Amino acid sequence: MKRSVYLDNNATTQVDPRVVEAMLPYFTEKYGNAASRNHAYGWEAEAGVDAAREQVAAVIGADAKEIIFTSGATESNNIAIKGVAAMYGDKGRHVITQKTEHKAVLDPCQYLAERHGFRVTVLEVDAQGLIDLQQLRSAMTDDTVLVSIMHGNNEIGTLQPIAEIGRMCKERGVLFHTDACQTFGKVPIHVEEMGIDLLSCSAHKIHGPKGVGALYVRRKRRACAARRCCTAAGTSAACAAAR
Ligand SMILES: *Cc1c(COP(=O)(O)O)cnc(C)c1O
Repeated sequence: MKRSVYLDNNATTQVDPRVVEAMLPYFTEKYGNAASRNHAYGWEAEAGVDAAREQVAAVIGADAKEIIFTSGATESNNIAIKGVAAMYGDKGRHVITQKTEHKAVLDPCQYLAERHGFRVTVLEVDAQGLIDLQQLRSAMTDDTVLVSIMHGNNEIGTLQPIAEIGRMCKERGVLFHTDACQTFGKVPIHVEEMGIDLLSCSAHKIHGPKGVGALYVRRKRRACAARRCCTAAGTSAACAAAR
């Protein structure tokens, strides 16, 4: 069959033969359940998952304990956005995102608005696809619990100033989620230096398999340093230690 030239690697990529080679043993001899803690088959599978978790964490300067595997970035974005809303909805009911986000971010935001009465601000972008940081600053109120702004755009490649956004969110004690599908493994990312609290990524955008994604979730101890989770119930011992 004659095939055309594929020019849509931002939509998905071919799995790298080295990825296939690394995965194959887990379909054949190493078929244990990684959750089976009481026998060698399980330990072997768990070691594979742990090694993968370390690799994902290393790309973004995170701790392996902060990486949750998902079925893809659509699920990562949904867990991040709906999760923050469920967790902090009693502290505030306002979310900020921007117009050129992937549907996998816009849809859960719309869901929060329609089904849970959240106010959602969708920032405009300029001709280059960039948000205006002053507009972001003035959109934030005491009711804002989450800012979700992507790193690299999947259609026009715009890189949003996520370090500045992260700093702004930290100043206001607002959680910052970024959809980094298009930049993970391609553009340097450091969750600490960029003030990122939650980050979504996907394997099939970087020559991995479809059906695998990850969500980075900053551990609460450090989120407390951003003053957010100490307000309602007072300061816990763990929070105080982190300050
Ligand atoms: C591909 C992509 C997604 C969806 O990822 P899946 O793993 O296919 O669910 C989300 N956001 C961006 C920016 C993407 O490029």
